[in-house]
Amino acid sequence: MAQYEMTASRLYSFLVVMAIVFTVVWTWNAQKPADDAQYKIADETISITNTWAHIANISELPHFTGSSGHAKVRDYLVNQLEELDLEVEVQTTLGLRSNYFVASTVSNIIAKIPATTPSKGNKALALMSHYDSANGYSHGASDAGSGVAAIIEATRAFLNSGLTHSNDIYIIFTDAEEQGLLGAQGFVKEHPLADKIGLILNFEARGSGGPSFTLLETNHGNKNILEGLVDAKLSNPTANSLMYSIYKMLPNDTDLTVFREEADINGLNFAFIDDHFDYHTAQDTPERLDASSLNHQISYLSALLPYFANSDLEKLTTNKDVVYFNFANIALYDYPFLWVLPISILVALVFLMMSISAINKRRIKLKSVLIATFPIILNIIFAIAIGLVGWHVLVWFYPQFNDIPQRFPYGGHYILATAILLTICMGFFTYQVFAKRFPSIRIVEWYLPIIALWIVINILIGIFLTGAGFFIILAVAPLAIFGNILRYRTTANRKVITYTLFSLPGLVIISPLIPTIVVGLGLPNLAIATIMTTMLLMTLLPIFFIIKGLRSIQLFCLAGAFISFVGIHLNADYSEDRKKPSSINYLYDTESNQARLFSYNQHLDSFVQPFFTLKDTDTSDLKGLVSDRTSRSAHYASQTKKLDIQPTNVVVTHSVDENDISQLTLKIEPNRPLNSIQIISDTPLDVFALSINQKAFDILGSRKQNNSVMYYVVTDMQPIEVKIKYRPDSQPAQLRLVETSRDLAQHFMQLTPRSEDIMASPFKVTDAVIISQVIIQE
Ligand SMILES: [Zn+2]
Repeated sequence: MAQYEMTASRLYSFLVVMAIVFTVVWTWNAQKPADDAQYKIADETISITNTWAHIANISELPHFTGSSGHAKVRDYLVNQLEELDLEVEVQTTLGLRSNYFVASTVSNIIAKIPATTPSKGNKALALMSHYDSANGYSHGASDAGSGVAAIIEATRAFLNSGLTHSNDIYIIFTDAEEQGLLGAQGFVKEHPLADKIGLILNFEARGSGGPSFTLLETNHGNKNILEGLVDAKLSNPTANSLMYSIYKMLPNDTDLTVFREEADINGLNFAFIDDHFDYHTAQDTPERLDASSLNHQISYLSALLPYFANSDLEKLTTNKDVVYFNFANIALYDYPFLWVLPISILVALVFLMMSISAINKRRIKLKSVLIATFPIILNIIFAIAIGLVGWHVLVWFYPQFNDIPQRFPYGGHYILATAILLTICMGFFTYQVFAKRFPSIRIVEWYLPIIALWIVINILIGIFLTGAGFFIILAVAPLAIFGNILRYRTTANRKVITYTLFSLPGLVIISPLIPTIVVGLGLPNLAIATIMTTMLLMTLLPIFFIIKGLRSIQLFCLAGAFISFVGIHLNADYSEDRKKPSSINYLYDTESNQARLFSYNQHLDSFVQPFFTLKDTDTSDLKGLVSDRTSRSAHYASQTKKLDIQPTNVVVTHSVDENDISQLTLKIEPNRPLNSIQIISDTPLDVFALSINQKAFDILGSRKQNNSVMYYVVTDMQPIEVKIKYRPDSQPAQLRLVETSRDLAQHFMQLTPRSEDIMASPFKVTDAVIISQVIIQE
């Protein structure tokens, strides 16, 4: 009798399916705390009411560096810290970041809580977040008002708790994070306290919802920091070493990066990243910030502030790395990186021995195993088709998804659900067709190549991506089931329960990564989720071969996919809650004496419609002329009347020595409030030295600069002096000064306010008056 003809009873089948579904749903939900969770430090409750009140105050106005809202927020924060009886310092300095040649005057807010039980040589714990919001219209409630507010309130609770602490605690609210980590740079380079820090807990947001992930930032091994996290007994530890490994490979951009790179200081980032469509937009408001995400930040502070305030931070540095993962957010588990490859090899050997023995006993035929590889290949192809082709078809149907630069449109979660459910449906379908066509192939034979694939993946992980070592569970559990099928003859009911019990840990550990990866990387990477879904589903194959009612499960999945699709459709249009990003700028080029309007919009809307026609797509002469740091890709441009605005006055002193090296001094005197001043080179340059107000950027030797030579975020009307030492690379140099003020509405009366379903585009300059003038032409 072929084994899959043996079926479990209806009751057992139902129970098993429910157990699987509930495990997955529960695990996904367990990633963040409840909306009404409460946290304490000792007996002192961290008040969620206080925290929300801080957020409301911070996010009242957009408060990017240099804006009027920014100064108000700074005053508020200084006040709040002073009310905690802390001595507060505002460190004002010129922050420079040399890798992008960006600079601004920054004002970091710093408070120090001296240790109550100091011991000699102790390092300090720093709590950090940035208090500036993103350029433009973001209210910065999540990014990073949530972090700042949580720190103030947790500090209050900590001080009131009466707990002692052996380490000094610093509170650092950095400035100009959004402008290029300039506040952090100014602190690390110049503040005397920087040397004394042993560990930083940094609170961030890249969206307005979802669980807050823990990301280690260290130049060394993760072992000791991780063991601190385990020891501190977090209530919702959302951390795994896969993220750690990937994060280490990518170029990072948080304040902690500056501390790690410049001063070798260890840190932990806590950041929630879901609802990415709100990130850096006018929708980053308290109303849209998830209570559970905020609670998650508070939960980390409640455990880690008292813990690290009393642990020896000097001992955190190690060269040892560990694999870690969280189990249903109940606890973190870890084991050394060194074990990863040996475990995979051990699993491979056991698998080989079991397979060879089964082949010798004629329980497995090689021909059957060969046939059994086809449904795997097909399922992966289907998963890619659903994830990749599906996404492109969807964007073709709903071209407005391209308007959302975060690559996660408002209905993004429905898209994810639809894709996952369809993938599950297809997975079942493939095996049904194959099982019907090849009735003599046994479960073990269908299963063998799946286990083999997971073992190969784990060996590759052992070599290339050690942090993902915990994926071994997806080889170990199937191997246990495999052995069980080969060894024990028992009732179908018993089998199905056993297999399910073996499979649940893998589901708990791995399944939450599926949505996380797409939320993290954006929907163009949907295929990663569908491939993971089908690969995870196939590890459950023996269960689905035995249970009754597979057809009903498929119908449920299909119905679910359909309902999710309706969700996509209903969320596809813009509304008050789902605003369309829209941009317009005015650009005057003194050289050509041309004034133009341009927009980054791919689609015209009621806000920009009065100024462009569908034919105004020739933007070729704009490229290069405007260089905002994220994109130069304007889609619409049209001629307009010149506004009566005087360009900034620049006094140029220029000399060239015998080696063709230019010394250029610019005295720049803003005659109106500006947001940024940029020096753009239209030809490649070798830059040898660059300074603003006598403060030099770090340049070793020379540096090739294309386009943006320097970007200065203006915070006041003070004149600045820029000195550049350069040599033209191949052609004669032409340098321009591009000034930007985000006040188009004040000068351009035809511009009407946006309707309720439209907002300013994030990431790009908008609503700005931009003037370009040539300062050097050789
Ligand atoms: Zn931020």
